[in-house]
Amino acid sequence: MATIKATCPMCGDVDLGPRQVQVLVVEAIEDSESRRTYSFTCTTCGDHVVKVADEDTVQLLGTAGVKIERVPVPDEAREQHRGRPLGYDDLLDFVLWLDTHEAIADELAAANWR
Ligand SMILES: [Zn+2]
Repeated sequence: MATIKATCPMCGDVDLGPRQVQVLVVEAIEDSESRRTYSFTCTTCGDHVVKVADEDTVQLLGTAGVKIERVPVPDEAREQHRGRPLGYDDLLDFVLWLDTHEAIADELAAANWR
């Protein structure tokens, strides 16, 4: 099992096992905007330490056996959209349209929205 040397701001260098380190990558559409951190609980003082990491550090920790948790960008965020965004008037128009199309309105009302 690999030993990971990390630095606690209060205690200095501490040796950790792969299961004592957590890596979190919150992905962004632009990779340069992704947030990468690793964290651990100091074996000496018990403080929870969180540090910013670059992709090389993430890969190195992964190679050492640390589980990497990735929060991906939702597919919807990568969709291409055309036209202007929906506005309040569009929503009102839709509500009025639903009033004149009762079959759809009844089905929507009967649907379980929870
Ligand atoms: Zn410490």
